Amino acid sequence: MSALRLTGPAGGAGVFSVPSRSAPGSSHAVTWAPPFVDCSCRGFGFRGHCWHAGRVAAAVLNETIALEEHAA
Ligand SMILES: [Zn+2]
Repeated sequence: MSALRLTGPAGGAGVFSVPSRSAPGSSHAVTWAPPFVDCSCRGFGFRGHCWHAGRVAAAVLNETIALEEHAA
């Protein structure tokens, strides 16, 4: 289960699709544009953070690491 990038360059801002843990087959849209982050799930509306946003943060970090490995 991982975040799928829909828009934007690797390591940068964009929109991701993250599978729902509680509802198999559905997914949430996460907008990643630090410091702005948004998710379509209810939990994000309550807490300002959620599991989906965390998955996107991890995915962007992995992209950044991959870019740095290419540059090395
Ligand atoms: Zn969410």
